[in-house]
Amino acid sequence: MEYYEFIIIVPDASRDALMYKLKEMGSPGLYEDGAVLRAYFENMNNIDLLCGELNAFRDVLRSSGLDPSFTFTHSVLPAQDWNEAWKKSIAPINAGNAITIIPPWETAEAGRIIIMIDSGMAFGTGHHETTKTCLAHIEKISKGHAGKSLLDIGTGTGILAIGASKMGFTHIVAVDTDPLSVDAARKNAGLNGSENIEVKEGSISEAQGTFDVIIANLISGTLIEIAPEVASHLNPDGIVVLSGMLAGEEDMVADAYMKAGLDLKEKYLDGNWVTLVVSPALNF
Ligand code: SAH
Repeated sequence: MEYYEFIIIVPDASRDALMYKLKEMGSPGLYEDGAVLRAYFENMNNIDLLCGELNAFRDVLRSSGLDPSFTFTHSVLPAQDWNEAWKKSIAPINAGNAITIIPPWETAEAGRIIIMIDSGMAFGTGHHETTKTCLAHIEKISKGHAGKSLLDIGTGTGILAIGASKMGFTHIVAVDTDPLSVDAARKNAGLNGSENIEVKEGSISEAQGTFDVIIANLISGTLIEIAPEVASHLNPDGIVVLSGMLAGEEDMVADAYMKAGLDLKEKYLDGNWVTLVVSPALNF
């Protein structure tokens, strides 16, 4: 199969948001090459639609206060070159204190918590700030929650669920509305020998029961939409980690969770991305 290669020159401030958008548009391969971003799409995609969607994203950037002045060109690339470029794009990545994410053909140094990810078409290679921040949180929380349960909403490649399994969570449910992600997450869970992960197609309503930790790396609109259900699936002493919102959107998200009975405990900023930790308000 041939691929379109987009070569994009993007201002630093809007790079993360654009990378997220390219993934959302279905790019199975993305990599940063100095100041240039390369994104690949299967050539069965309609090139005019892809270009139109990219141009329309300028309005989104503008309304988030980000610089919309990226430029791009595209060409058709033979599959082999694309594979090489893609493999380069997923070299080992470290997250948290001890986590290393590797593709199946790499090895990691001894003593690391290894998450093996074959991303295929799904989101969650570990390159994205929000994924790394979520993994670092799971690592931190796992110290007091080993043996407990975790729900991963929007699992993508399964990266966070697998991380949780490697760090001692025993009962893990992962959901994703995208069937390609569900396949990828099941495959990756198998690659890692993480047999305690149950992957389901759909959103939070697919999850049964309550959990000690709920983690969701999603866009702000979805985080807001699912707030009441997140609260109803959380144990009374549970913790929720919310990521994927852009700076400036966090108050709206925190507000929705407060209305659902969860108080804001921690807030982190990584470039343009925000991660919130919320947990049940104390009842006096
Ligand atoms: N958890 C991974 C992937 C996050 S990308 C990581 O941290 O890297 C977000 C994922 O959420 C995508 O795979 C998308 O298909 C899925 N998604 C989007 N809306 C959803 C919803 N309402 N419920 C469940 N999954 C959703």
